[in-house]
This record gives sequence, structure tokens and C-alpha cells, in this order.
Amino acid sequence: MTGLPGTSRTKRDGCSDEYSELFILISEFTHDQLESRVDLGEANSTFPRDIFLELGRMGVLNLPYSHVIDPQTPPVPYRVSLQVLEEIASSWLAIAVGLSVHHLACAPLMNFGTSEQLSVWQSWILSGQALGAYCLSEPHSGSDAAALSSTAVRDGDFYILNGTKSWITHGGVADFYTVFARTSPLKDSGISCFFILADTPGLEFGKPESKMALNASPTVNIDLQNVRVPVSNRIGQEGEGFAIALASLDVGRLGIAACAVGLAHSALRIANSYSQERMAFDHQIADFQGIGFMLADMATSIYASRCVYLDAAGLLDSGESISQEAAMAKLLSTDTAMAVTTNAVQVLGGNGYTSGYRAERYMREAKVLQIVEGTNQIQRVIISRELRKDP
Ligand SMILES: Cc1cc2nc3c(=O)[nH]c(=O)nc-3n(C[C@H](O)[C@H](O)[C@H](O)COP(=O)(O)OP(=O)(O)OC[C@H]3O[C@@H](n4cnc5c(N)ncnc54)[C@H](O)[C@@H]3O)c2cc1C
Repeated sequence: MTGLPGTSRTKRDGCSDEYSELFILISEFTHDQLESRVDLGEANSTFPRDIFLELGRMGVLNLPYSHVIDPQTPPVPYRVSLQVLEEIASSWLAIAVGLSVHHLACAPLMNFGTSEQLSVWQSWILSGQALGAYCLSEPHSGSDAAALSSTAVRDGDFYILNGTKSWITHGGVADFYTVFARTSPLKDSGISCFFILADTPGLEFGKPESKMALNASPTVNIDLQNVRVPVSNRIGQEGEGFAIALASLDVGRLGIAACAVGLAHSALRIANSYSQERMAFDHQIADFQGIGFMLADMATSIYASRCVYLDAAGLLDSGESISQEAAMAKLLSTDTAMAVTTNAVQVLGGNGYTSGYRAERYMREAKVLQIVEGTNQIQRVIISRELRKDP
């Protein structure tokens, strides 16, 4: 694995040697399987389902849940799983975001599921055979997620779910759906969490959204029409769903931060190498301070973003609560990715504006990272709320 251009740092910061083989495996995988397919996959909007099967075979889907799978052995640090995600994002963002969403869909079951639920579904959802979707957003509740209006009404040993979920990554291609729905009118404490298999009658999938980027990753609306879900598929107690959703999002935001750093890193690589090839006024454009300083700022902000998300991951590894740090990491890394990818287009001049170079795609891809898993305004809301606890 290579580090930031111009530095000797590797992408294994803070990880012990026992993970060297994993990082080599991931590096080979991204080179052989992702680099060769990303351009066509994005151009044709084809969802590469087989890649998730392969990630399952490689054991990548297990990484954030080693503490549940085998409580006797030391868990794989989040620093490791997040740097794996960063490496994948540097080759194909849609796969890395898909992996992050799959982890988000698994988190409620893995962290709050009963031993019976784990014994039925754990190996299936971590094997790569089953892909997950996380269904929180609705047409009228995105940022204010607790305002969701889908309902789950108890009917004997079942719940009957009705409503609409919006923007669901992997909608229509997932094998299971982690769905949040209202079991009582109380705002935050009226929400419950359900594990729903894809072939359950009443799940109606819309057409994939036509998006600015991330075209290999389907995003759809899902209508829930009298979906009958056994009570045994409820994760946690009635009313605990929103707390479960938020706990999963703290870790998810570090995933998005890692994705942003991987994407920004690739944009810097293109800009850095182009600046040493392109000539203007009888000089490499890298000789001009206006370009050199731009590249220096890009490298510095990427380095800072990595440090912040890895520090937050370290806190998580020590069992600390990280709501504020995860929000800071997501905010800084995704704003960095937006600025770095935009500047990469600028460094490439007219070529940057064409699809012959990946810089323009990186710029389009960066935008979504400022929106998903809580917009960057919402990250600021979280950070400022924490600040007010400390007058
Ligand atoms: C490609 C893609 C994939 C997605 N995948 C999923 C998924 O798998 N599962 C899922 O559940 N959701 C998913 N989402 C939804 C995403 O999480 C929401 O789009 C996001 O939370 C914002 O919600 P919204 O779009 O309703 O915007 P709104 O909440 O309507 O916000 C509109 C604007 O108002 C701002 N705003 C809102 N409230 C405040 C405030 N209090 N202070 C300051 N500004 C505020 C927002 O920052 C934003 O700029 C996905 C979205 C996209 C685009």
C-alpha cells in the first residue's frame, strides 16, 4: 500500500504487523478487481454484486464484528477495518460506500440482537451471500430522522409495517432490510427496529434514482405495504429503535470519513502526477507556486482528516463514546474530499473537465459524502450541541 504522495507514510497507521497480510490482500484485490472494473461499472450503472461475495469470502465483512463473533480473542481494531475501507474507496467509492452501508445494516443485529437472532442470521449476513440495506430516511424525514412516519402495528406474533422509505442504498438488490418504523406516537422513543428478509411480501421497490454520481450503487424508494414481520425479527425492545439507529450511525460516520479520505487521496495522486507532466510557459506546472501551494494544501488537509478519523477510531477501540468525534471526522474528511477533488479538476485544467480523466468523477462523488449519514450541517448541529454541555 502506498501513502500520501511525497511522504513515506503507509495506509496502515497504528496497526500491528499481524494485519500485514490483510492489507496486502486488500491491496491486491483493489488493484486486480476494482481498478479494472470501476470505469465501466460507473458508466453503465451496473451493480457489481459479485464483489460483495468476494469481500465476504475474504473476511472483510466480519471485521467490525470480531468482538461479537469471538468474544474470547482480542477484537480487530476499528483502525484496521476503517483503513481497509479507505483503501477500497481509493479505487471505487461505490463499493466502499456499499460496504459501509452493509456494515450499518448489520450493526443493529450484531450489537443489539439476541443470541437466537445471531444464531440464525449472523453467518449469513457476514458471509457475503446476503447484502444489507439500512432504511431510516423517509420522504418527509431525512435530517430529522426521528420524525419518521412509517408504522409497525402489532398483530399477534407479527407486526404489520406500512409507509415509505427513501434513498435506500441497495434497495431492490439487498437480501435483508434493517427498517426503522413507529410503534408509538412518542417521537424518539416511539421507534422500533426490524430485520426484514427481501422476499417478504409487501416490499415494493421503486426505480433507481438518477444520480450525479455513485451510479453503480442503486438508490431507491421502498414502499412498505402491509409487510408482515414476525415479532422475533424485532431488534431490541419496542421504542429502542432510534437509539439503535444513532449508535450505528456513530460508527457509520467514521466509515464515511474513511471513504472520503480514500477518495481525496486518489484525486491528489492524479493532480500531483499531472502537475509534473503538463508543461506551460516552458515549465512543469508543478513549478508554479500557485499549483504547488494548492497541492500542498490538498496533502495537508488529507493528512489532517486521516489523523482525526484514526484518532476517533482509537477512542472507539478503547470503548469511549464518540458522537462528537465521529461528527468532526465526517465533517472534516468530507469537506476535505469536496475541496481536494474540486482542486484536482482545477490542476488538470480543461482535461479535468472531461471524462477522459477520473478527476471529474471524483468531484461528483465527493458531493454525496457531504450529504449521506447526516448532512454536514447536521454534523455541526451535533458538535455544537456537545459544546453546549461544557459551558
Ligand atoms: C446517494 C444517497 C444514498 C443514501 N442512502 C441512504 C440509505 O441507505 N439509507 C437511508 O436511510 N438514507 C439514505 N440516504 C438519505 C440521506 O441520509 C439523506 O438524504 C440525508 O440525511 C439528508 O436528508 P434529506 O435529503 O431529507 O435532506 P433534508 O433533511 O430535507 O435537508 C435539506 C437541507 O436542510 C439542511 N438542514 C436540515 N435540518 C437542518 C438543521 N437543523 N440545521 C441546519 N441545516 C439543516 C440540510 O443540511 C440540507 O442541506 C441517502 C442519500 C443519498 C443522496
